[in-house]
Parts: sequence; C-alpha cells; structure tokens
Amino acid sequence: MAKKFQNFIDGKWCDALSGKTFENRNPANWDEVIGTFPKSGKEDVDLAVKAARRAFEKWRLVPAPKRGDIMRRVGDLMVARKEELARQMTREMGKVLAETRGDVQEGIDTAYYASSEGRRLFGATVPSELPNKFNMAVRVPIGVAGVITPWNFPMAIPTWKIFPALLSGNTVVFKPASDTPATATSLVEILLEAGVPGGVINIVHGGGGEVGMGIVGHEDVDLVSFTGSTSVGKKISEVAAGTLKRVSLELGGKNAQLVMDDADLDLALEGVLWGAFGTTGQRCTATSRLILHEKIYDRFMGMLLERTKNLRVGDGLQPNVDVGPCVNEGQQKTVVSYVEIGLAEGAALACGGHIPSGPGLAKGWFHEPTIFTGVKPSHRIAQEEIFGPVLSVIRTGSLAEGIEILNGTVYGLSSSVYTKNVNAAFQAVRDIKAGITYINAPTIGAEAHMPFGGVKQTGNGHREGGWTVYDFFTEWKTVYVDFSGGLQRAQIDNY
Ligand code: NAD
Repeated sequence: MAKKFQNFIDGKWCDALSGKTFENRNPANWDEVIGTFPKSGKEDVDLAVKAARRAFEKWRLVPAPKRGDIMRRVGDLMVARKEELARQMTREMGKVLAETRGDVQEGIDTAYYASSEGRRLFGATVPSELPNKFNMAVRVPIGVAGVITPWNFPMAIPTWKIFPALLSGNTVVFKPASDTPATATSLVEILLEAGVPGGVINIVHGGGGEVGMGIVGHEDVDLVSFTGSTSVGKKISEVAAGTLKRVSLELGGKNAQLVMDDADLDLALEGVLWGAFGTTGQRCTATSRLILHEKIYDRFMGMLLERTKNLRVGDGLQPNVDVGPCVNEGQQKTVVSYVEIGLAEGAALACGGHIPSGPGLAKGWFHEPTIFTGVKPSHRIAQEEIFGPVLSVIRTGSLAEGIEILNGTVYGLSSSVYTKNVNAAFQAVRDIKAGITYINAPTIGAEAHMPFGGVKQTGNGHREGGWTVYDFFTEWKTVYVDFSGGLQRAQIDNY
C-alpha cells in the first residue's frame, strides 16, 4: 500500500481538513505510487498561518547564532541522509542520481552558509551629523514567510528560501510542488529533528490555486518567496499587491550558450550537452539555445549530433542513464507540442524529436534529446521556455550579433560564452543582459554562496543565494541613540 503523508501544522502532523488526498507517482514508472498526500485548501493554510504567527513571537527572540546552531545540525543530518534523500528524489521526479545528489549537496551548502550567517547578519554603524549621537541600522525579522516552490530542484530550492528565512528569525508556511511532496516532507522532518520548534515550520500540501494562492492572498503572511513559471509569477504579483506584501519571484528562462570561432570546441561540447540535456532540460538555467559562430558551425554540429545520439534515456536510478524522464505527462506533452511547433515554423529536426520506445521505457514520461537547426531567433522554439530536452541552434557571424540574439528574449536568467579571447569574454560580460554569465562553462552550475536570479521577466529584482537573500528575509531598522542630554534637531542645529 502507498505510504500516507501528512501536513505539518502548529507542531502536529495532520490531514487536510477536507480529508481529500492526491497521489504522486514515479515519472519513470507510473505504476509505482510514491505516496498519498493531503489535498489541502485555504482553511488549512489559515491554520498554518495562525500557528506561524504565534510561533514568530518566540522565534524572533532566539539569538541568531543559536538559530545558526540549528542550521548546522540541519546540514549534518542532510550529510548523513544524502544518499537516501537523493534516491527518494530520483524516484519522485526522475532526474539521474548524480544530479539528485548534487541537489541535496546544494541544500547542505546552504545550511552551512546559513549557520555561519547566524554569527554575521551584519548591520551598519554610521557617524551621526550631530555630536553625542549614535546611528546604526540593524536587520530584524519580518514575520510569516510563505514559501512556494517548483519540482525541478525539490530540495535545493526550498532550502534556498527556508534556511535564510528561519535563520533571519521568520517563521514559514511551506507549499511544495505537488510533483515533489515527499522530498519536501523529508526536509521538514530534518528541520524538526535538528531542533526547529513546531509552528516555526509548517508544510501544507496541495495545488497552486488553493494552497499557493491561499498563502499569497492571506493578509497575515508578510512576505512570499516564489520560484516557478513566469505566468504564475505574474498572477502572484497581482494578488500580493492587494496586501502590499514583499514578494520575491524567481521565474522562467530561455538561456543561451554562445560558441565563438576561437573557442575550445571539446570544452564547449561538454558544456552544451550538460546544459541542454542535464535534468532532461528541466532547469530554469537549462541551455535551450545554442548560438554558433558560422566558422565552426559545421564542425561543431557534427560533434554535437554524434554525442547527442549516444545519450542514454531511462530511469535515473540506473547507473548508465544520462537523461531521465519528463516530470509528468503534461510536461511530456508540452515537449511534443514544441517539436510540432518547431517543424511547423520551418526549423529542421537534426536529431531526436520522438517519445522513445524500448526496454524500461514503456511506463515513463520519456522524450528523446532533441536538436533543431535552421532556427531563426524569432521562432517560438527560440523564444519560449520549453522546459524539456530540446535545443534550438542559431547561427551568428560575430560576437556582437551573437550577443544581440542571446539578449533577444523576454527572459534574462543565465548565459554562457565560450571563447579564448579575453577581450571578447569581458565584452560579453558587459553586454549580456542576464543575472548570470558563465565564461567557458555551461549555463548551469550555480554555487550556493553566490547571488542567484535573473533580469527582465525572469524575476522582480531580488536575489537568492549567498549574502543577498538575507536582504529579502530581513527588514532594516534604523536606530538613533542621542546621549547629549538635550534636544538636537537634525538638518537644523548643525547648519
Ligand atoms: P509553476 O509555476 O507551475 O509552479 C511553481 C509552484 O507554484 C508550485 O508549487 C505550484 O503548485 C505553485 N502554483 C501554481 N499555480 C499557482 C498559483 N496560481 N498561485 C500560487 N502558487 C501556484 O512552475 P513549475 O512547473 O513547478 O516549475 C517550472 C518553472 O519554474 C519553469 O518556468 C522554471 O523556469 C521555473 N524555475 C525558475 C527558477 C529560478 O530560480 N528562476 C528555478 C527553478 C524553476
């Protein structure tokens, strides 16, 4: 029988008030049920928000270094359970084991970073314009944080949000993607085992419309940290405006790798294979456009097609598999429909393009790694986020034209340029409009202690990761201490 999972609200594991449930299945084998989960509604969200509000009054007074000690234990527990968590994640969402191990490792790195931040959370002291007066600005927690996450990094992305939220003294209502609720539950179990009190962390499973919107629209939720699609991000922005809550949006991408004629082609080849087909192309930072200088176009395409045709598609738990399944039927259908769109637009299918068949593939949402050539920058397959193993190849005659093509979408998350020319590299760093630029490395590979996020319709200007995420999860309080013993009027008595 399938394992039954629950919400965690106000320190207790519980079902949805309605008693409704939903099922989650392995995308590499849909006969395998991962578990049943509460299909919660707004009333469950309300209970969780009330619990988080009550818990906030105590948690905000726990010294940050003590909260940091808990984060260190979280990291230690994740280290001890790394393999088990990675296997659970591969079963739940399909990416290959090496990648789910990396996903857990990103959470571990984020935990240890948060732990160290407990002894920093720096503010500022600034000279006063008046004598015998002391000025400082300190970081204070904000309140109840709503955390809404996607399924493609089921451990890393929740940790990017929840760990800094808690370390900063906020309490959390967490709604994970309904494709990865088991991994999310494991994360909450680890937080509790490490010593996070009940009420400080709450998890409410269920759909985006009910639970997600329930959090965003709730007037007692102070801030929302969301990662997901641009279309949902726009809706969240609109609804959150009703209560003027603070919102961080990390949204879609249409990332490109530009390969110049002087590039190390073997290196660029490894980069594009990893960038385009890692996580089955289901990364916000996936390489979905390859912009090739015309002088190396034919040679590079020959190398790329040979390697892509040899990628092995299958169950990510098998050691010899390179590309796992799409996360669900809907995502597979999206990929199939974009292959049709690409063909209708006049692009040429250079390889892949089909749902594969063969041993072990009959009961999963697999799709062949697919490459389109003859793609124009204006084609839909070069403009829209597909979120699958589909790469669109575009020619360029120069660096400037390549950068113009690279910049020519509504998104601006990640970007990559392969060149041996240091002048070209720095010109690209200066002119590319993206939150992240890699030189001689693929579009994927963020490190936990660096700012992460995008420009244009990839987000609303906040950054996760590193020190920058603490700007989102804290409020500045400005403090003036006048020890002159008299009334001193700023802007007046000194001038
Ligand atoms: P999604 O937008 O469909 O869902 C994300 C989360 O929002 C899920 O938990 C979902 O249940 C919830 N949700 C859905 N509708 C909602 C609503 N109306 N109100 C509130 N919450 C709602 O995205 P997805 O399919 O889970 O993930 C893929 C998308 O996420 C891609 O667009 C990808 O680029 C993006 N993504 C971005 C980043 C980044 O850091 N920029 C990272 C990973 C994924």
